[in-house]
Amino acid sequence: MVNLKALSEDELNAFLLSFGLPPFRTKQLLHWIYEKRAIRIHDITVLSKPLREMLSKTAYIGNLKLLDRSISVDGTEKYLFGLDDGETIETVLIPDGGRTTICVSSQVGCTMSCRFCLTGRTGFVRDLSAYEIVDQVIAVQRLIEPRVVTNVVFMGMGEPLNNLDSVTEALRRMNSLLKISKRRITVSTSGVVPGIERLSASSPAVNLAVSLNATTDDLRTSLMPVNRRYPIGRLLDACRRYPLEPRRRITFEYVLFDGLNDSADDADRLAGLLRGIPSKVNLIPFNPIKEIELGRPPERVVAAFRDLLQARGITAVVRKSKGRDILAACGQLRGRYADTVETTAC
Ligand code: SAH
Ligand code: SF4
Repeated sequence: MVNLKALSEDELNAFLLSFGLPPFRTKQLLHWIYEKRAIRIHDITVLSKPLREMLSKTAYIGNLKLLDRSISVDGTEKYLFGLDDGETIETVLIPDGGRTTICVSSQVGCTMSCRFCLTGRTGFVRDLSAYEIVDQVIAVQRLIEPRVVTNVVFMGMGEPLNNLDSVTEALRRMNSLLKISKRRITVSTSGVVPGIERLSASSPAVNLAVSLNATTDDLRTSLMPVNRRYPIGRLLDACRRYPLEPRRRITFEYVLFDGLNDSADDADRLAGLLRGIPSKVNLIPFNPIKEIELGRPPERVVAAFRDLLQARGITAVVRKSKGRDILAACGQLRGRYADTVETTAC
C-alpha cells in the first residue's frame, strides 16, 4: 500500500498517471490532503466514489497517531505522536499574542549529545521523513481548529541540519501546500556549519536560529560536542555568510546555566561575538531535568544578563519557560511515556 503523503508532488503525479489519471487530479488530491486535511481517501468527495474505491485498493493517507495531549495553564500544548514503526515524537504548540507557533521534531532522538538536553541524552533512533515532519503541522492544525498555526520552528527533537533532505522537502511542502510563508518558519541548529550553507542554498528565506549557549570554545565544547568540529569562530563565520533578506536577523539561542555562562563577562563576550551580525538573542533559562546536574539561574541574574546585552546594543529577550507543568522541555514527554510503557510491560 502506498501512503500518498509519503510521495513528493512528482511521485504523486507519476502514481496517478499509472492509473490513467491526468495531472489536474494531482492538484485536487494535494489540495484535499494538505489544505482540507482529509484523513482517508474516502473523505475526498471531489473524486467519484468508484475512483476513491479504486485508489483505496493500492493507496491510503497516512496520519500520525495522537498518543498524548497535555495543555499547560499558560496555554502551551504538548503532543506525543506515534509513528508507523511504533517510535514516538513530540510536538509543542505555543500560543503567543497573535501568533500560534508549532515546534516540530525532525528526528527521533538526536546524535549531538548536548549535555543539557534530554533528547541528546537519550540517543538517536532515526531521521524523520518529510511526511512525518509535515504531518505534525497537519495533525495539530486539525486538533486546534478554528485556531490557525501561523509559525513553525524546528526546535523539537533532533538536529534538523543532520536530516536536511527531509527537512528541505518538508519546508517546500509547508510553504507551497500548507501556505505557510518561509519568513514564518525558523530552522534551529546546534551549529552544523556545512548544513547552514546547504540550507541557505536549498531553502532561501527560511529563518535561521543558532543554539550558541556559550561564549568560549572550552565551555561550548563541554556543553555541546559539535563545537569540537565546528568551533565558535567557524560557526559565526557561517552565520555572517548566511544570506539575509533586508530587516531579517539570525536568532541566537542562549540557554542560561547557573554560574556557568551567566556572568557579566559572558554577556560582554557574547555582545562582542555578535558584533556585525544582524542578530537577536533568545535567552532561555535552563529547564532543569532530574537527570542533569546543571542549574537554572535566579530570575534577577537572567534579567541582569539581558540588560547587559541590551546596553551593548543587542536585542535580547528572555523566553519564559512555557508549559513547565506539562514537561514541555525537549524530550521530556517522550521520556515519561517510555517510563510508563516500561512499567506497564513489567
Ligand atoms: N537541535 C536543534 C533544535 C532542537 S533543540 C538545536 O540544538 O538548536 C532547541 C533548543 O532547546 C536549543 O536552543 C537548545 O539549546 C534548547 N534546549 C535543549 N534542552 C534544554 C533545556 N533543558 N532547557 C532549556 N533549553 C534547552
Ligand atoms: Fe540535539 Fe538540539 Fe538537543 Fe543538542 S540541543 S542534543 S542538537 S536536540
